[in-house]
Parts: sequence; structure tokens; C-alpha cells
Amino acid sequence: MATAENTLAFSGGWEYAPAPESTDHIEVASRYGLFIDGDFVRPEKGRYFDTINPATEERLSRVALAGPEDVDKAVKAARKAYSSVWSRMKPAERGKYIFRIARMLQERAREFAAIESLDGGKPIRESRDIDIPLAAAHFFYYAGWADKLEYAFPGRRPRPLGVAGQVIPWNFPLLMAAWKIAPALAAGNTVVLKPAETTPLTALKLAELIADAGLPPGVVNIVTGAGDTGSAIVEHPGVNKVAFTGSTAVGKRIQKALAGGRKSYTLELGGKAANIVFADAAIDQAVEGIVNGIFFNQGHVCCAGSRLFVQESVADEVVEKLSQRMETLIVGDPLDKNTDIGAINSKMQLDKIRDYLKVGEAEGGSLHQASGKLPRKGYWCRPAFFTGVSQSSRVVQEEIFGPVLAIQTFRTFDEALEKANNTPYGLSGGVWTDKGAKIFRMTQGLKAGVVWANTFNKFDPTSPFGGYKESGVGREGGLHGLDAYLRLGE
Ligand code: NAP
Ligand code: MG
Repeated sequence: MATAENTLAFSGGWEYAPAPESTDHIEVASRYGLFIDGDFVRPEKGRYFDTINPATEERLSRVALAGPEDVDKAVKAARKAYSSVWSRMKPAERGKYIFRIARMLQERAREFAAIESLDGGKPIRESRDIDIPLAAAHFFYYAGWADKLEYAFPGRRPRPLGVAGQVIPWNFPLLMAAWKIAPALAAGNTVVLKPAETTPLTALKLAELIADAGLPPGVVNIVTGAGDTGSAIVEHPGVNKVAFTGSTAVGKRIQKALAGGRKSYTLELGGKAANIVFADAAIDQAVEGIVNGIFFNQGHVCCAGSRLFVQESVADEVVEKLSQRMETLIVGDPLDKNTDIGAINSKMQLDKIRDYLKVGEAEGGSLHQASGKLPRKGYWCRPAFFTGVSQSSRVVQEEIFGPVLAIQTFRTFDEALEKANNTPYGLSGGVWTDKGAKIFRMTQGLKAGVVWANTFNKFDPTSPFGGYKESGVGREGGLHGLDAYLRLGE
């Protein structure tokens, strides 16, 4: 299988030897059907679409395009499995299956990591060290709850909801599938899940793994397709619970479609997190945190620290150190273990990021972008930041979903807090300071679901995650995430 040429871009004047992860050990079929009722089946209308490697623009596989008739089949299979097997099974038995998925995912971690990087463009270091281990950790965590639901919600008689329809985005394909499937199954629900159009492969691999794990047919169904397939799931009358992660625009549409109905739902939407650096922070660590916050996974992160607020007295130092550090980041082959910034997920996303770079300059911002060569083929964006932007700038207000940071300064604590909260979003935030008291005041004042202190982008299955305002409805992860898949009676 071809990988991106090892034309790693460096500007530090020296180069690492290429260190690509091998792809010999992975198997990607040339074509995938829909995983319905325990088998891969042809889509009713016989339509397929390509999934490509964004680092090479080459086709990796052809994937079935599910229409409403296929979604209907999947929901019916999930209903049957729910009523006849999964909701009746002893909870400890359900737990065993979920533990098995977790263990098999660990055993096949290298294969999943390589496929995640091939299909989505993220650096192998991240898929290997973050995405796949965290996905397994979610299955382990929720497997443990399966037979302890009464202890999780004492006196509340927890019961499953039924069939969960789940729609996920392309930035953490396997991890988002795990976030959705693990708590649903532990609570006794069955699932119809749609991965994003550009990153279906690890979800399909997970379907194979679930079949290998011997789960009863129909408990998990994976249907691939585009936005229409997603809305067919959301609107299907046989679905009891909708779990969606994606953009705020689509989330609003889904909320409208569900309004007045009886389906319960959780929506995990966009973000525009503030990373706030006080003058008393450990500056070098803060710079690493800023880099991790916005350049991690090419900035394709809903909770990315895409707005930086830095206290005026250290602003020049932070900006200088940041621009030096940015020059050392390696942009290139996602499968290379030295790569810091992989490929942008799709041509569409790259065009969107480029538009924002133009918008920021047109609004009067100064654009600083790393130099260095980029591979000839594929979708790439050098890391960048804007200074000289204001609160009303579009690059400050809107989610870019790319490696582009907007920097502003502040003088006082209150000014930082007010500016940070001045956004329609409220998913996450970060604060860098030497003083615990400032951390506590900031975490109380920030309207954000997660606030990291002297670190950024840390995730754990035991910790709830979700947003305020236009960043969504409900929480995933931890007990909150389990609650979202249960009816709690008295
Ligand atoms: P998106 O366009 O909203 O798509 C998300 C998923 O919804 C995809 O599977 C998509 O299918 C599907 N979809 C599109 N239109 C739909 C419709 N009308 N009804 C039902 N489903 C529909 O978002 P994206 O651009 O892929 O993902 C990036 C966004 O996700 C960002 O805004 C990011 O902040 C957000 N995100 C949030 C979280 C969180 O936890 N809060 C986590 C990750 C990402 P196709 O891919 O086939 O179009
Ligand atoms: Mg792809």
C-alpha cells in the first residue's frame, strides 16, 4: 500500500531519517458492505463510494452507501437483537462481551492505528499512543459497569432505552465509535452507528472485530454513507436514542428534527476553546501546551485550544517562543513516527482552512506560518497563528478546525475571563498559572465543560465530557455518559 513520500518538511536545517510504520500487517479489503445483523451485506441499491488516504489522495477502499432502506434493515436488526437477546441477557454476560472487545482491540492495536492514520491522515504517534489505547480504555471502563448499574444509580432502577442511533465525525473515528458504542452496550441497548464519510475504515474493522468477538447478530450494526444516511438514522421511528458528534450546524438541524418527539438525545458539537496564559506561568511548558492544544491532530479537535489569551507582560516572549517551536514541527507522512502534524482530513477541510487564513488577513490580522517544504501530493497545512486580531474577528469567533491559532492579549484576570467567555461555544478551556487560586477562580468562571490547568487535551474514560451553549447537549464519558443510555425509574 502506498504511503506519502517521505518528504518530511523541516525548517530547522536538519532532517531525521524516515521512520515509517509498516503497513504489511494490515488488511484493508478493496470493498466493504454494510455490517447489519452480524454480516457484511450489499447495500440495497448497490451504491459504493471511495475512501481515500488524504496523504496520497489514493483510494484505500470502496465502501457501501447506505440508503434509508438499508438503515431501516439495520434498525430492525438492532430492535430484534434488543428484544430477544441483549436486554434479556444477564448484565455480567453483557460485560464479558464488552471486555472481549476491549482486549481484542488491544491485541490488534497496531493494525487499527495504522489504518486510522491511513484513512484519516493523523500522525501514527497519535493514533498509536492516544486514539487506539483510549478507545480500548472506554470499552474496559464501561464493561466494568455493565453488571453494576444499580450501584451506579442507587435506588433508581436503571433500564436501557432500546435502539441507539449514533452518528460520528472524522477527527477521532475509532475513539468516537468507542465513546458511543461502549456505554450503549453496557447499559443494555443495541446500536446502529454511522462513521463519517471520509473515515469509515476503523469502524468497519471494529465491525469485523465485534463479529470475531461473537456478539449476538444485530447488537451492533455499522452503516456507512454520507449526511443523508445520518439523517435517516436520526429520523428513523424505530430509534429510541440519538447520539451525535459533529458540527453545531448539523447538531441544530438534528435538534429541530427531534423537537417534540420522544427520542432522547445527546449532541457533542463544536468548540472554540480559550487557552489562557498568565505571566506567572511556567512559560516553556505553557508553549508546549499551546502547541499540543492547537496543533495536535492538525487542529481537527473539537476542544482544540484555538484561541490564546496571553498576559500582556509575557506576550512577546510567548509569541517568540511559539514561533520558534512551530518551525521545528514536522509536517508530513502520517505514518512516519517523527511526524507532528499529519495530513488535513479532506480537500474540503483544507479549502475551508485556507479560506480562514485569507479571512484573518483581510480582517487585518498578521499571519505567522511555519516555513518548510510540504509533500507534493495530499492535503497539507503548515501550522499558523494570527496576532493583531480582535474579539469580533471571524478567526476568533468561528471554529476553523485546523492548525490555526488566534492570539490576543489581556491585562487583568477579569478581562481574560470575559474575553474567553465571549463565544457562542463552551466545550473546553485551559489555564496556565503558578497560582492554585487563579486556577480555581478560572475554572469556576469559564463557561466550558472541561477546563485543563497547566496541561491540555487530556482525556480519560472516567471523566465526563461535553459542552455549554452551542457546544452541545448532554455529557459523554464517566457515569454521566452511562446515564445518557438509561431510563432511571424510581
Ligand atoms: P458534521 O459535518 O456535522 O458531520 C458529523 C457526522 O454527521 C458525519 O458522520 C456526517 O456524515 C453526519 N451528518 C452530516 N449531515 C447530517 C445530517 N443532516 N443528519 C445527520 N447526520 C449528518 O461534522 P464534521 O465536519 O464531520 O466534524 C467536525 C465537527 O465535529 C466540528 O465542528 C467539531 O467541533 C465537532 N466535534 C465535536 C466533538 C465533541 O465531542 N463535542 C468531537 C469531535 C468533533 P458525513 O461525514 O458523511 O458528512
Ligand atoms: Mg479517508
